[in-house]
This record gives sequence, structure tokens and C-alpha cells, in this order.
Amino acid sequence: MKNHLQAKPLRRLIGLAVLAALASPLLPSPSAQAASELNLYTARHYSSDDALYEKFTKATGIKINVVSAGDEALLQRIKSEGAASPGDVLLLADASRLVAAEQEGLFQPTQSTLLEKSIPASLRSGTLWFGLTTRARVLVIDPARVKPDAVKTYADLASPALKGLVCTRTAAHPYMISLIASQVAHQGEDKTEAWAKGVVANLAMKPKGGDTDQIKAVASGQCGVAVSNSYYYARLMRSNNPEDQAVIAKTKVVWPDQAGRGTHINVSGGGTLKNAPNKDHAKKFLEFLASKEAQADFANGNNEWPVVAGVKTENPALTALGKFKRDPQPIADFAKQIRTAQQIADKTGWK
Ligand code: FE
Repeated sequence: MKNHLQAKPLRRLIGLAVLAALASPLLPSPSAQAASELNLYTARHYSSDDALYEKFTKATGIKINVVSAGDEALLQRIKSEGAASPGDVLLLADASRLVAAEQEGLFQPTQSTLLEKSIPASLRSGTLWFGLTTRARVLVIDPARVKPDAVKTYADLASPALKGLVCTRTAAHPYMISLIASQVAHQGEDKTEAWAKGVVANLAMKPKGGDTDQIKAVASGQCGVAVSNSYYYARLMRSNNPEDQAVIAKTKVVWPDQAGRGTHINVSGGGTLKNAPNKDHAKKFLEFLASKEAQADFANGNNEWPVVAGVKTENPALTALGKFKRDPQPIADFAKQIRTAQQIADKTGWK
């Protein structure tokens, strides 16, 4: 995730006045109350999202002012703006970040039969926030060093057979915390802590960089198996860069736990902010993101999968990756274990 404000063409066109107002948290922006605007705070960092916002504006006449920043910067900003916050909708990647915003009390319920009907209850937090795309936490191997059979499960990452071969980003990161929390929800704290210890003992190097760095480290021979979100691999698959193509040629995706509970699934999603001046627009926007057309665009744009049933994606990388068994564990189940997961990450020195 990028932690700085990004210059976006859309924002430059329509959002400059509002941005200037946003910079001053104590003065509510008059344009924030305007009848035809929506102030979107997003930590998603994919340029394809902009095209989607333009579609929404075309369909509804509601202009979107985008404030794009890292999740922590956004949460900080919303908290310091308090009741005067002009923010209407907050979009975040990963359930553990959405849960953090929920626990800070930043969301208000969005009463929408459409959202409740179209988005499975397991992929949202009641009506406070809604998963809008799904991603899987997969394993990426160098088949010359680690056979697919050696990493059939997440549990295998702790097997002594993989000593010096495993790479992950720091377990302090939300993506790892969610995975650890999911293990806690499935098998309890003690077993998960023992597993985490085993994984740390198998690390090929001190965790550094993001998921893509881990995939590249597999290709370069530093690691035999890495943990990554699925869309990072799909992004490399779709890249025209010969270096990325070489990474793909050298590596292979393994879906963990196919014979058991299935591969861990996470979401990116969002909800209406507590002090939203344009609450009705927020609802319209979230409903738009759950529409079949937007679901396909939203998922295709970042190589994720829709949350709504019956949506067709057109994405050659996702097609090539194929079908897999998903862990049906409701997000609410592992959300409860996030604190325990953080303690395990700390205790085992997985950083
Ligand atoms: Fe990401």
C-alpha cells in the first residue's frame, strides 16, 4: 500500500476545491454538503478504480471526490476530522483493516436490502461494512526446489522439511495477521502459535518487502515457497515486462488446504462513514459497487473475484489460475482472533 496522497486525474478535475477544504479539518466544507457529491476515502491503490468512479458519476450525476492514501493515514485523518469529517465512504483492503476501522467506530450502518441480499453475510460485518471483492492467500513455489506435494496445506509451511525455504512479508502486516487469525479460529491459539514458531524457524530470510517481493525472491532462488495474495501473482501474469514473465515462468501457484477446509479468503470492502454528510449518496455508491457490471470491473481491475454470485469476470490470468476450493470461514470468525494473531506474531518474532 502506498502511504502518500496520490495525484489522480479524476481528483485533479473535480476534487481540487474539496481537497483544499479537507486539508482544514475544523472547517466543514460547504461543497461536502453539496447535493451532487460524494467524498470517497480509499486505501485501494488501483488506477482501474478511477474508471469505475467515472461510470458511477455518469449513471447518477453524483461527482466523486477521491482522497487516496494508505490505510493508517486515512484512519488517522478520519479520527482527527471527527464530527466535521466530510468523508462519506471508506474503502480498505483486507478484513483486518476493515475491522480496525470498525473498532474505532468509524462506520455507520448502511440499510440496504440490495447489499444484504447480494453480498453473502460471511463477507461483511452486518451492515457496517461490506466485502466488495475477494482475494486468496496462496503459496508460490519454485517447483525445482519445493514440490507441490510438500505444501498441500498452510500447516506444511512449518514442516522441518522446508527449513530455510519459506518467505513471507512481516507478520505485522494485515495480510499475514488475517491469515494467522484464520488459523486461530480454525485450530485454536496454542496450535497456531506452535505453527507460527515452525514457520519462523523455516524462514529463508528476514521478512522484508511486500507479497510481490516474496514471489520475486522465489524466482531468484532466495526462497523455495512464498505466501502471497492471489492478485499480485495474477498481476505479474498479465504484465508485459519480460522480467515479470521470467518470474512467472520460474514459479507456480499452489492453493493450500484443497483436501481440507480450503484456501484462506479475504476481502477488500467498505462502508458508510459515521459522520457522512452525503449518506444517501454513500448508499447509492456501495449499491453501485455491488451491481453486476461494477463487480466485474472492480474485480477485473485488480485481478480479484466478485463477491456477488453470477458475475462473469473477463480476466485471462484468473482463468489460467483456474478454480479452487475456498475456505468458507466467515470473516467475522477470524476477525475476533485478530488481537490473538498479533500477539502470536509478536511472540514468535515473525517480523
Ligand atoms: Fe495489496
